[in-house]
Amino acid sequence: MRAVLFDWGDTLFHAPHAPEVIVSAAREAGVGVSEVDARGLWDEIWTAGKTPEEIGKGRDLSPEAHRRVWIDLFARADRVAPGLSRALYEQVMDPHSWVPYADTGPVLRELRARRLRIGVVSNVPADLRPVFAKHRLDSLVDSFTHSFEVGAEKPDPAIFLAAAKSLGVAPNETLMVGDHPVDAGAERAGMRVFILPGEIDGEVRGLKRVVDLVK
Ligand SMILES: [Mg+2]
Repeated sequence: MRAVLFDWGDTLFHAPHAPEVIVSAAREAGVGVSEVDARGLWDEIWTAGKTPEEIGKGRDLSPEAHRRVWIDLFARADRVAPGLSRALYEQVMDPHSWVPYADTGPVLRELRARRLRIGVVSNVPADLRPVFAKHRLDSLVDSFTHSFEVGAEKPDPAIFLAAAKSLGVAPNETLMVGDHPVDAGAERAGMRVFILPGEIDGEVRGLKRVVDLVK
């Protein structure tokens, strides 16, 4: 292996504050929602957002499509308290509010020390570089490949091939790491794929496994 490509959302970064956003936006609307119920509501919405039907809507090809498709999906939260869909979109879907897992930085550093090229491949409607810079992780990533720039979304092999090209590596010397079946589209681009387990140990994503895979 000469390169590792990483998905961004729920692989390197996550949005840990969504239930808090629900509780406080509901409170502003005069509705009491417990932390437990807020977490349940968020889990339900987030899971719904990962179905093939939602993913097939082209939401990561432009900022406009992203806003329209997600606000539509979040509308179910407005049944709990009016205004929740907008609060969720504006506060949770802003990549700048996402944070890296505890093992993201250490694992990227370890891969870098092993002289592997590192890329980020994301279905996302905005540039992720400033988000990585905010957490001082930008210098650990050699290239960013965003769906809105490529004009293709995972699982389309085109986006993985664009990422390999940007790193100057061949697909068969590249490992793609993600959390969702769309990330396995890299197999059709001739890459190896590692899909992380769904369960997460607190703030630790389990990325250390990637270091073992490329040894
Ligand atoms: Mg993901």
